[in-house]
Amino acid sequence: MNESNIKENQMNMNRRMFFKSMGAATVAAAPISSALANVVSPKKWDQTCEVLVIGAGAAGLFAAVSAKESGAKSVVLLEKAASPFLNSTSLSAGSVNATGTKAQFAAGVEDRSNAAEFAKEVEKTGKGLADPQLVKLFAENSAMALDWLTDHGVVFTPQPNSAFRLKRMHGCDKHTGAQYVDVLFQNAKKIGVDIKLNTKVVELITNTEANEVLGVKAESKGKPLYVRATKGVVIATGGFCGDVNMIDKFILDFRGALTFASANSEGQGLKMAEKIGAASTHMNFAAVYGYGVPMSKDKNNRKGWIFRGHVMNLYGPITVGPDGKRFVNDDLGATSISQAMSRLGFKKVFQVATEAQLLDFMKNDPIQVIGWDQNTFKKELEEQKVFVVKADTIAELAKKMGLPADQLEATVKRYNQFVKNGKDEDFGRKYMKGTFEKGPFYGFIGQPIAGISLGGLKVNKDLQVLDVYDQPIKHLYAAGEAIGGIHGGSYIGGNSVGSSLTLGMVAGKKAAASK
Ligand SMILES: Cc1cc2nc3c(=O)[nH]c(=O)nc-3n(C[C@H](O)[C@H](O)[C@H](O)COP(=O)(O)OP(=O)(O)OC[C@H]3O[C@@H](n4cnc5c(N)ncnc54)[C@H](O)[C@@H]3O)c2cc1C
Repeated sequence: MNESNIKENQMNMNRRMFFKSMGAATVAAAPISSALANVVSPKKWDQTCEVLVIGAGAAGLFAAVSAKESGAKSVVLLEKAASPFLNSTSLSAGSVNATGTKAQFAAGVEDRSNAAEFAKEVEKTGKGLADPQLVKLFAENSAMALDWLTDHGVVFTPQPNSAFRLKRMHGCDKHTGAQYVDVLFQNAKKIGVDIKLNTKVVELITNTEANEVLGVKAESKGKPLYVRATKGVVIATGGFCGDVNMIDKFILDFRGALTFASANSEGQGLKMAEKIGAASTHMNFAAVYGYGVPMSKDKNNRKGWIFRGHVMNLYGPITVGPDGKRFVNDDLGATSISQAMSRLGFKKVFQVATEAQLLDFMKNDPIQVIGWDQNTFKKELEEQKVFVVKADTIAELAKKMGLPADQLEATVKRYNQFVKNGKDEDFGRKYMKGTFEKGPFYGFIGQPIAGISLGGLKVNKDLQVLDVYDQPIKHLYAAGEAIGGIHGGSYIGGNSVGSSLTLGMVAGKKAAASK
């Protein structure tokens, strides 16, 4: 026996011991014979298909459609919610990043053959921690995914994003990710994907000897449903930031943060797969924004909204910490603000705006708080019940926000001088629009809010889920926010829906082609 045989033997032995100790998914009254001692199938499957997809978000719907379009004879999609519009994809603004799309070409953005550059840009923002194989897969297939949507009626407009040299972010004509869900869902039904809503997958069923997934156990209307998948199961159950316990367990820098994720993002696919020996990766990373607003005064309710304070600052307002001092370049994005907060141990941040700056922001941008219309925001400006305060002087504003008045006055005085001199000597910000000399002034109180997990299941370049020994688990695939490693340590807005659509499409093809 040579060295590699010995290693492989050892690995198989470890795997068997691992599954034994984990007590992998078993079904009551499973047939026990000496030859099939570790086969854990039910006595009878309720349904058999070739490809089974779990979750009807961007990744799952695209996986189901592409599996069917790639020749899978039967595709079943199980979704636990009553509607496909209750997930993070549908809540999202629908910004998607891609390179070499028809939409870019039509808009005169010459971006063909630039997948390698796009991949480099993604890896750079990810602080060199992204999995290069996954980023490459995303970059090389992103145009195909977006072009499919274009061919099915979505109108994309390329937009700038500071992470990219060219306009690689794409907005869609309905300004919401629900548009992709709608188009994919209608199409999936049309081509014969068997979609079952209100059907929650609770276990992956394996043949543990072969390290192979055979199908799933789901629950529908209080009854179990066993579905066999002969070619593959695709996990597309989304991220885990909808479960605040998981935020506290994994996102150590932001324990206690609010969440803006869909309540359906509970990391269930991850937990089910870990139970059968799957590995996870990048679990300590999530997209956390600095300007979160709690939905409730009840501290146990950690649901929140995102105030687009980082966009407001581009109209001139400043951001200070609990000591009343500026601590960061106010022009930075919301995730950079939260990273600075974490570094300095700030639980809250405070923004100060003049009325002119605020009106400028509202005139030029229709959305102040994601999930609110502008009238709701105007009402909050009048009533100041949730996160806004208003005062005629800086000292009074400081008092209302709980900040040291002397310090805030000193901060503003120093900053006003920078504006007059045209140079921010402390942080070098660019957007210095107006001094803080004449009230009324508005204050905004923000706190960290998490919503997109960057960690999840570990997959290889074929999107096969890997076990804890880095071996693919046969017939188990994953895509979307359920996987880890595509973003590395930091996230570019547009890369999550973008990679969920793209890798969902690829995972469906891979599963359909599997033997
Ligand atoms: C408010 C908000 C705004 C965002 N804006 C953007 C943006 O503009 N651009 C961007 O790139 N990203 C954005 N994101 C992130 C992005 O929306 C998600 O990361 C991405 O859409 C995830 O897609 P997905 O298909 O993996 O998961 P999801 O869309 O979350 O879908 C997962 C589905 O799986 C189902 N499911 C879960 N568990 C089970 C189970 N056990 N059985 C059956 N079904 C199950 C869920 O109900 C859900 O329908 C935003 C997120 C939020 C919350």
